[in-house]
Amino acid sequence: MLAQIGDEAKLLAGGQSLIPLMKLRFANPRHLVDLNFIPGISYIKEESGALRFGALTRHAEIENSAIAARFPIIHDCAAGIADVQVRNRGTIGGSIAEADPSGDWATVLLTQAAEVHCLSPKGERSIPLSQFITDAYTTVLAPDELVSEIKVKIPPKGTGAAYLAFKRAAPVYPTASAAVHVAMDGDVCKEAAITLGCVGLTAIKASAAETALRGQKLTDKCIAAAAEAARAVADPQPDMRGSVAYKRALVVALVKRAIEIAVRRARGEQVEVSHIYA
Ligand SMILES: Cc1cc2nc3c(=O)[nH]c(=O)nc-3n(C[C@H](O)[C@H](O)[C@H](O)COP(=O)(O)OP(=O)(O)OC[C@H]3O[C@@H](n4cnc5c(N)ncnc54)[C@H](O)[C@@H]3O)c2cc1C
Repeated sequence: MLAQIGDEAKLLAGGQSLIPLMKLRFANPRHLVDLNFIPGISYIKEESGALRFGALTRHAEIENSAIAARFPIIHDCAAGIADVQVRNRGTIGGSIAEADPSGDWATVLLTQAAEVHCLSPKGERSIPLSQFITDAYTTVLAPDELVSEIKVKIPPKGTGAAYLAFKRAAPVYPTASAAVHVAMDGDVCKEAAITLGCVGLTAIKASAAETALRGQKLTDKCIAAAAEAARAVADPQPDMRGSVAYKRALVVALVKRAIEIAVRRARGEQVEVSHIYA
């Protein structure tokens, strides 16, 4: 249908981004193609060392799934999105396709080397998430192409991850957020992935912060250096949620805490985490 109708059509998934934009007249599609009538595109599967999420899987289904419960960063992300009403309708595929700079999923999934499977009349293709979102609200999707699945490699033993977002209230997007993934060998960090959310036009990979951890014993000094490197790469806009300096200070605190939780989880500790409210 997308191919037939052309670029005057918009896909409708959970409607939690598209419908508010239509109510504000920022989006005015001539046709809506409703994905909710297509069977078999909402699922969570564990297969061949990977987690696979059908595009129409709701945030709440992920929050409550036994599979995601074993991957705390995935569970915590789903559980922290807005409120129950939004989580019951909003989908992981819609979030990734929307590419909202304040969205939670892209920030988290970038630390998990996620791949986005796409489908169009020309066939299927799989795109690393790092190449899928190119700018605020912009992806590489062609007008006749949709997201069919998000795939995440199951992290090996000795790894841990955490996602922390700072929010003013449940039904608003975070002021700033940080996702951290570490692979530990005793006290030494073998590998690190750090992504910042809501402080740039897309989620930001904090490469210098990752380098500050890689191959190091994770002392307070080392963690502080990584958090400072994250502050340097954050590029927030001042708005009703806070000034640039405030958001950068938040980034430092969130990255530090997320590293500490990720390390504890890598050691096998159960650490319960939820979003932090102002
Ligand atoms: C009050 C409120 C608070 C919110 N707070 C948060 C928050 O804190 N964190 C957060 O991450 N999100 C938040 N959201 C957004 C929510 O997570 C949405 O669910 C999500 O952004 C979009 O998913 P959706 O399924 O609703 O997509 P829709 O609104 O249906 O679609 C969004 C866009 O993606 C396109 N699209 C949808 N599915 C596909 C697909 N499979 N392939 C290609 N294109 C597709 C649509 O055409 C549209 O352009 C909030 C929403 C509301 C209303």
